Amino acid sequence: MNNKIHGIGMTSQRTRTRMLDRLRGQGIKDEVVLEIMGSIPRHIFVEEALAHRAYDDDALPIGYGQTISSPYTVARMSELLRAGGRLNKVLEIGTGCGYQTSVLSGLAKDVYTVERIAPLLAKAREHFRALRILNVRARHADGTMGLPETGPFDAIIMTAAATRVPPELLDQLAPGGRLVMPVGTAEQRLCLVEYDGKDFRQTQLEAVRFVPLLPGLA
Ligand code: SAH
Repeated sequence: MNNKIHGIGMTSQRTRTRMLDRLRGQGIKDEVVLEIMGSIPRHIFVEEALAHRAYDDDALPIGYGQTISSPYTVARMSELLRAGGRLNKVLEIGTGCGYQTSVLSGLAKDVYTVERIAPLLAKAREHFRALRILNVRARHADGTMGLPETGPFDAIIMTAAATRVPPELLDQLAPGGRLVMPVGTAEQRLCLVEYDGKDFRQTQLEAVRFVPLLPGLA
């Protein structure tokens, strides 16, 4: 790997290791998630001028009015989705810069990701190429209804906030599947849905702040 990907100073492996210790202190327990986050150079996903802040516990701008989620949020959502096991097929709605996607690529066999803003998706694809990530299929589409033709999925993650859990997404969960997404407008909460093959169990978790889910393509 070259220096840009590998990182130096505030973007070095040592900085990533410090981020992992902080995440453990914040309650993240899944060491598989932590190991993957320790191996992915988060700084290449943000603008160069912000690279030195990439490992802080902050959401940062990625252009087009969108943000990369904070390391804690990425770790938390990944941990909730994985629930201790290896995932087969995962759907992400809201690729953004592709950082969460890259984390998922290490936790699942196949990752499908959907983004409505074309230039953001193009950048995310560049990052997947640079990191030699081969198990991600990225599509320029409105993901509000999921990807019915590709489901069912073991896990679905939405990284933009909706006013409710779209029922179409529940139809795309495989038995034993889990969905995690922010729900709400002024006040948002992480929402976890677990499907046992018969019933859906919904749990409201901590307060979060995400950009809104928007309709159509851009
Ligand atoms: N997981 C991303 C977070 C990006 S912010 C990351 O790590 O960078 C949320 C993203 O959801 C934005 O890029 C936004 O354009 C996208 N989005 C919003 N509504 C969408 C929709 N209906 N379909 C697909 N993507 C959507």
